[in-house]
Amino acid sequence: MTKALACPACDDTGWVCENHPGRPAFGDRACECRGAGAPCPKCNQIGERETPRLPKGFKPVIDKKGWRH
Ligand SMILES: [Zn+2]
Ligand SMILES: [Zn+2]
Repeated sequence: MTKALACPACDDTGWVCENHPGRPAFGDRACECRGAGAPCPKCNQIGERETPRLPKGFKPVIDKKGWRH
């Protein structure tokens, strides 16, 4: 039985590869390019003053002004 994922883009981590938005940045299927992580556009949308949820054990430096793309 295949494990169902709520979000196949980020593998439910809430983060995708910055270079490849269709691949998760963390987890077992993390993108192999080792690019920077970016909040998943499908399930981890953030507002101007919000902080995106983070994967376990991951503490990036977050600019108070928000994320740059
Ligand atoms: Zn990538
Ligand atoms: Zn997602």
